[in-house]
Amino acid sequence: MTSEQYYDGCKRTWSNKGDNLEHCVYGLITESAEILDMLKKHKFYGRELDMVNLREELGDLEYYMSILYKEIGYSQDEARIDNIAKLSKRYPDKFKDKVVRDVEDELSHIDNKPIIKGL
Ligand SMILES: [Mg+2]
Repeated sequence: MTSEQYYDGCKRTWSNKGDNLEHCVYGLITESAEILDMLKKHKFYGRELDMVNLREELGDLEYYMSILYKEIGYSQDEARIDNIAKLSKRYPDKFKDKVVRDVEDELSHIDNKPIIKGL
């Protein structure tokens, strides 16, 4: 399934009431909280990790990410490329606890024009 096909599937059930950007951020936080709640129940209440539920929640996160990418004129592929470029600069060899960040340099490839629709 392509990103466009997936987006079309997500759009079918999307509510267009209110601000889409805000709606997506609320959705990402609440779906992440569902994963956190599952981990809490595993760590503190001794429940088995529910991998089926974890997969379902990851899908819910994908749903909001798909809508969010389209809303800001960005794509999953672009996000992946930008993220790997950032991590490669920040951690040239491998992850280290202490790193000196140069945020301006990390973000220098990003165009400064507004990317949110309507701006
Ligand atoms: Mg969910």
